[in-house]
Amino acid sequence: MNIICPSCGSKIAMDDINVSTDIALCRNCGRNFSYSELVAGTATAGADLNAPPSGAWFQELPGGFRVGATTRSWMALFLVPFTCVWSGISMSGIYGTQIRSGHFDPGSSLFGLPFLIGTFFLVGMCVMNVAGRVELALNGDNLSVFIGVGPVGWKRTYLWSEFSSVREGFGSNTYNWNRQPGIVLEGKRRLAFGSMLSEQRRYFVLSVLRKMLRNSNRGFTSASVTPPFR
Ligand SMILES: [Zn+2]
Repeated sequence: MNIICPSCGSKIAMDDINVSTDIALCRNCGRNFSYSELVAGTATAGADLNAPPSGAWFQELPGGFRVGATTRSWMALFLVPFTCVWSGISMSGIYGTQIRSGHFDPGSSLFGLPFLIGTFFLVGMCVMNVAGRVELALNGDNLSVFIGVGPVGWKRTYLWSEFSSVREGFGSNTYNWNRQPGIVLEGKRRLAFGSMLSEQRRYFVLSVLRKMLRNSNRGFTSASVTPPFR
């Protein structure tokens, strides 16, 4: 069976394939690929880490790396006016009248709860579409994931060694209003994020994570023949 490099098209010698670590090395262009993905025909060279698309960034750090992208989107042009009108009318109609009259109405307050929750959700979406970002930072084995605006947002820390693969896919527990796929990190645990990123930015972040996983999780050592980051 011929294994062909998806980047430069040259044949990869069997000697340069390590099945146990799932690494195939192309001698011609110096890139590493997942052997199983090559066999399945799904291997790609991935995005160029040194040339992020606009709105995305990648930086190697002494203890790891930092990768992220903005969730800014043209959707804001629709979402912001819609939120102002929808939330403005429902909030002032249901709660504004109570505040103005100084009379608390439990019935209509209860009725208004879904609108209140909807308003929080819409405002959050607006903020993310105007100025949000998704960022991952690895330091040692600590992978921090941030989704938010400025210093405000959702942040969790995971163990990088708990993840062994990354792909595009849908999260199970996140409300995915636009049915866009996100990035799914899998291994001993599963993490899905980034469905708000544009396709280009998502692909870039995915490519970075794939390369980094391949380099660190699969027993890449200094004995390897290629520079680990490429
Ligand atoms: Zn090649």
